[in-house]
Amino acid sequence: MKYRKDDIITLDIEDMSVDGAGIGKLDGFAFFVKDAVIGDTVEAKVMKVKKGYAYARLMQILTPSPDRTEPRCPCHRQCGGCQIQALDYRAQLRFKERKVRGNLMRIGGFSKELLDRVMEPIVGMEEPYYYRNKAQFPIGADKNGEPVAGFYAGRTHTIIPNTDCALGVKENKAVLEILLDYMKSCQVLPYNEATGRGLVRHVLIRKGFATGEIMVCIVINGGELPQEDRLVEQLRTIPGMTSISINSNTQKTNVILGSSCRTIWGQDTIKDVLHMRDMECAAGVSSSDSAGITFAISPLSFYQINPVQAEKLYSIALDYAGLTGAETVWDLYCGIGTISLFMAKRAKQVYGVEIVEQAILDARANARRNGIDNARFYVGKAEEVLPALYEREGIYADVICVDPPRKGCDAACLETIVKMAPQRVVYVSCDSATLARDLKYLCANGYELQRGRMADFFGQTIHVESIVLLSKLHTKQNIEVELEISELDY
Ligand code: SAH
Repeated sequence: MKYRKDDIITLDIEDMSVDGAGIGKLDGFAFFVKDAVIGDTVEAKVMKVKKGYAYARLMQILTPSPDRTEPRCPCHRQCGGCQIQALDYRAQLRFKERKVRGNLMRIGGFSKELLDRVMEPIVGMEEPYYYRNKAQFPIGADKNGEPVAGFYAGRTHTIIPNTDCALGVKENKAVLEILLDYMKSCQVLPYNEATGRGLVRHVLIRKGFATGEIMVCIVINGGELPQEDRLVEQLRTIPGMTSISINSNTQKTNVILGSSCRTIWGQDTIKDVLHMRDMECAAGVSSSDSAGITFAISPLSFYQINPVQAEKLYSIALDYAGLTGAETVWDLYCGIGTISLFMAKRAKQVYGVEIVEQAILDARANARRNGIDNARFYVGKAEEVLPALYEREGIYADVICVDPPRKGCDAACLETIVKMAPQRVVYVSCDSATLARDLKYLCANGYELQRGRMADFFGQTIHVESIVLLSKLHTKQNIEVELEISELDY
């Protein structure tokens, strides 16, 4: 082994890892350097040598990257939430594009020329801070026993006090200050994970960006808070406050929310509205779409955390789906039916499949609330529901949309998609490695990559969403059949 512990090396940082460490190479050997960013030239000390790579500690920045910028949050280094605040936002977007394209080439086997031709520019955020509509702050005690709210330090359960996260809405701070004041003056103890004692565990705050409605849900290790009224009196003064609730979680667990919620003031849900956007390439947004789709969100519901970017991504999905009003669409991994309901406005019929029953109940309620009666939802695993329905009922699709979790689509699901042979497949992905793997399969089985684009939902972090359009390849046989049919028409 050429490199040893304590060696001092000079490195050009060319890439970043999933947890935001800078990566530089010497003779093809990769070094991970925490707190170095792409474009830096650094001096680093080798700490731990593994097979094929090593960790090194940043000693000195010899030449700072032109893309270095001042992070907005003072806690960005300790907090586990953001990894790349020190990188200018434009450079963050370039990094994300490179990462996705790299996976499409390496894992998916797509050529650079093809990607140059089909990939459209990444959809960045206008405001890459303050974009999250949801925040969950753990409550704990500092060393003097005083209640604090903040974030877990990366991969630990130590709370770093911070009531002003730079990714969240400004109301978070007011809510947290009121809660901590109330806890101090009413001597309400924070929950202690080690002993299982104490009352207040977490606070969940959500805001409907389109409506301004705010929800606060306090997660406690018990059934009620002492002098609840005192807390409510204060919280309700925050402009937009719509729902205040208590969630009981008495389990010794890392899971934040317990299963039952009790509204102590205002409504059980807040509302938000998503509109279709006229993306540069999303042609033909008709005026009837301007009403948008209204969603009711409870403390337990799933909802996209960046609604501004979600609108853009769903508008691209709709554009890629190429709907004329005559199509049958299957939306797999549909969550609360966001993409399904967007598509339903332009399709003949939409079917959604999702594993979480509560999400499907929300999807059906959201369809009713918006007067959409051509969307039907199934609870179950996509890889079980779709093959079963195909075998039993010979279901059909013009367009299949998938938006799976990180692990991508199950093989049984992909096989059924190929058998159903839709004209178009729209694939929305939060993990470009599994996206590339699944595209490789679909492209080996009769589909071709037509268009693709990334959308940044999570500025300051290494995550990125991608969307691609696949079209069914017209085999010689298919083309002949189509010709015969069109000849018959004449
Ligand atoms: N398209 C939705 C949510 C996508 S997130 C939206 O934009 O709001 C991925 C969803 O897949 C989650 O709701 C998750 O519960 C669901 N899921 C995970 N594994 C699944 C499976 N095997 N079959 C169906 N749904 C699954």
